[in-house]
Order: sequence, then C-alpha cells, then structure tokens
Amino acid sequence: MPSTPILFNSSSLFEHFVQANTLKQIQSIFYQICITEGIDTTDFSNIYPLLRKIDEGKSNSKAEKLWTFLDKRRNFAEYDRQKICKEMNVLIIGAGPCGLRAGIEAALLGAKVIIVEQRDKFSRNNVLHLWEFVIQDLKALGAKIFYPKFCTGSIEHISIRQLQCILTKVALVLGVQIYDGISFSEILEPSTNTTTSESCCNEGWKAKFEPHNHLLSEYQFDVLIGADGKRNTLPGFPKQVVRGKLAIGITANFVNKKSAAEEKVQEISGVAYIFNQTFFKDMQAKTGIDLENIVYYKDETHYFVMCAKKQSLLGKENVDQEMLCKYAMQAADFATEGKLPQLEYSLNHRGQCDVAMFDFTALYSALHSTHLIERSGKSLIVTIIGDSLHEPFWPTGSGCARGFLGVFDAAWMLRSFGLNQLSAAEIIAERENVLKLLAQTTKDKMGKGKYTIDPATRYPFLAKSNDLKRILETQIDSDNIE
Ligand code: FAD
Repeated sequence: MPSTPILFNSSSLFEHFVQANTLKQIQSIFYQICITEGIDTTDFSNIYPLLRKIDEGKSNSKAEKLWTFLDKRRNFAEYDRQKICKEMNVLIIGAGPCGLRAGIEAALLGAKVIIVEQRDKFSRNNVLHLWEFVIQDLKALGAKIFYPKFCTGSIEHISIRQLQCILTKVALVLGVQIYDGISFSEILEPSTNTTTSESCCNEGWKAKFEPHNHLLSEYQFDVLIGADGKRNTLPGFPKQVVRGKLAIGITANFVNKKSAAEEKVQEISGVAYIFNQTFFKDMQAKTGIDLENIVYYKDETHYFVMCAKKQSLLGKENVDQEMLCKYAMQAADFATEGKLPQLEYSLNHRGQCDVAMFDFTALYSALHSTHLIERSGKSLIVTIIGDSLHEPFWPTGSGCARGFLGVFDAAWMLRSFGLNQLSAAEIIAERENVLKLLAQTTKDKMGKGKYTIDPATRYPFLAKSNDLKRILETQIDSDNIE
C-alpha cells in the first residue's frame, strides 16, 4: 500500500489500484480513488460513469483501456443499458471466482450487488486450469490490464488468489460492494422480525451474519446467490453423487524463486496413467509412489496436483502431514526430473507447508439450482452457482469453466425475472434445463466462442421444459394461498 496515499491524484492512485495484489490493498486504494473523485461508494449505479472520467481522453492510459473493455461489455444488448435488473437487490455469499464473476454479471444487468466473504484475505495459491472461453471472457473484462502476464503464450492457468484479485477490481469498478471478514449464517423471512402488518409490508428479506449486528443486517434483498463453495450453507438444495470412483487428490505448492533454472523446467499440462504408463511405472519403481495422473503449472508458485492410487497412499495408515509433504515433494521432483532446484514448500494461510489431500471419491451435484420463496408479499429468488452447484474434479480443471457457465446461466435467469415476460415457473424451468446441459459440457465441446449470458450462444440443444407442475410444487414456495 502506498505510504502517503493522500498525496496521489486519482490517476496515480489508479495505477496503484492496478498494481494492488491483496484484497485489503485493492479495497483501500479503491476507496481512496472514490474519496478523491467525490464518489459515494454506495451509489452503485453511478460509480462506473463517475470513475470513467479518470484520465478521460488519454487513449494510452490503463484506465482508458479498461473503460474501452467495460464500455463494450456494458453495451451488450443482453444488459439493455443496465436497466433490466435495476430494481433488484442482490446478496452474494462468497467472493470466490464464481461469486465475484456473478457479482459482475448482476451489476452489468443494473442490479445493486453486495458480496460477503468470510475470509479477510485471498490466500489460495492453487492454480486453476482455464478453458479457452474463460480466458477470452477474462481478457474481455480487462484482465491483462491488471495482470499483464495473464495467459500469455501457451499458459492456460492462473492461481485462485490472482484470479480473485482481478475479478475484485472489475467488480468494484462496476459498482459491486464487497465486504470481507463477514460470514452469512441464515436467511431471515420478512415477517420474522416485524410486529405489525404495516411494518411487515415495508420489510424485505434480510440475512443473519457473523459477526452479529453488522451494518449489512439491515440490507434487504430480493435475490440471494449461494457461491460459498462445495459446503453450500443454503438449505433446500439436495445433492446427488455424480462421480463415484475412488480418487485421492493431492495439491502441493512450492516457492517459485523465478531463477533461470526454474524458468527452463517444462510444465506438465496433464499426464494421465492411460496415456503414459511407462512414466508412472517408472515413478513407482523408483519412488514407490503410484499415481493416476499429475499436473504441474508454473505460476506464482510451482503448483502440482496429482491423483494417488489406492495402494500407494491409502494403503499407508494414518497419512500425516509430514508424510504427505514427503510424498508430494518426491512426486514433484520425479515428474520434473529433479530440475526444480531445492524444492521448498510455500506456506498456506495457516503458516504451514502448502500441501493438502482431498477425497474425490464421491463428487456431488445439486439436483436443482433455484427456489422462489414468497412471504408476506415479498419474493426471494435463491440460486446457487459454482462449486455449490457442481463440485469439480480438480485434476481435470473443470472448476472455473463450469463455474462461469453456471454464473452466466444464473445471470440469464435474473434477466428473465427482470424482464417479467414469463411466469416464475417458466423461468426456473429454463434454468433447470440448462443445468442438465452444464453437467455435460466439456472443454472440447466449448471451443473459443463469443459467449454471452444467453444460453443459446453456449449450449447447442436447448429443449423447452414441460416440467412446470413439478417446479411449481417443489421449487416455488409461497404463503399466498391464491
Ligand atoms: P470457492 O472458490 O470455494 O469460493 C467460495 C468462497 O465462499 C470462499 O472464498 C469462502 O471463503 C466463501 N464462503 C464460504 N462460506 C461462506 C459464508 N458462510 N459466508 C461468506 N463467505 C463464505 N480447482 C481446480 O480446478 N484445481 C485446484 O487445484 C483446486 N484447488 C482448490 C483448493 C481449495 C482449497 C479449494 C477450496 C478449491 C479448489 N479448487 C480447485 C476448486 C476451485 O477453486 C473452484 O472450482 C473455483 O474456485 C470456483 O469456485 P467457487 O467460487 O464456486 O467457490
């Protein structure tokens, strides 16, 4: 953070905003820019037009380049000049990649958006493989202005924390408010904290947060988006197992000192057992480690994600952290032919070696994505996205790609609610139809494409649903007996 920020004018502050690399820095510099420009940070619909004046007319400035990207996006026909959802108040739980990306879409549709994030820093070094359409999507939001190294050459990946930093900057500029260190606990119905029918009519849906009595406890919203990862705190979203094959995933991050020797080491974009049995048999013979696949990405860290076979790791009882560290380091060393000198673990947010083991034996998908609840004349659309909707198998890198597709589907649904031309059951039915297609989407099927939030631009076969009766019975819950 700059030590004497008050001396900067907005355009040099903007440069600091571009360079900022932590959540705290990004937020604090953003608020300094707003103060300098006299912008009210809660005036969500005016933030972008007012910020846009920074460096106006200087075609080479970073700010001007960003406005060019974002103007183009804001002018997409789908957003109808931010008018469609301007009456909507949205609350998003979680500032992971999908929560932030959803915030951006809702803001582009004109909604007021607040994101709550329980952590107070972005600390996940793990690296996401990006499908081509995600790379194009992020570049079109100005990702390279904030992170010039973003997907240069054949690089198709980014660390989760770096992706969060980029999306946070875009979201703030578009008027999204992000609160960190606050955790969503539960939904509060309009009638629960009111005593008279008169006040009841003025009260909307609210949420309970941790810490209590946070100013957001008074925020009334009509759309709630669950983007809080696979543990999904929102009730009413039953899950089914979609992958039931024994798999133990291990991620490991090592310090990248960016030395010449490290630069020379080739990435491994995915060596799977079926394609290279010699490699894995050799690894087993020399180290005793038996893997199904391994991926190595050189990013802010040297990142490895691998799938261990049952006999290799599970066979050993009580896998402790020390053993896991040794195991992952040996595998990383073998896979890179010992060319990464002096492997040293990065530290995670707990200050420990950044190595972790995950059980992928059962992966879950939600059976449906959306509810509409009506109480005391107030409607609430509740929808889930990202890992809450569809838990990804990390080694194939589908997390962010399918996550973003689900975000676009949810945005399209909000647009349909905003347009108010179809019944709620028809709108939800369309979203659930698309959800089935989302699960079948693969990298090869998606290609580069110029996709928008309109599902017709992304999924080849869109069938109409005739399941309206079931949706009315199971996903729309109203206390209005009419
Ligand atoms: P997440 O990225 O999980 O974000 C959810 C956010 O919600 C988090 O920031 C969390 O702090 C916040 N949150 C949770 N509960 C609350 C609450 N009650 N109130 C407020 N905020 C809340 N994918 C890969 O492809 N490769 C990998 O190597 C890989 N490694 C991963 C490592 C970890 C530790 C995790 C958690 C995920 C990993 N993933 C990986 C999955 C990948 O990160 C996700 O697919 C991708 O980030 C999109 O997820 P998301 O935004 O839906 O959820």
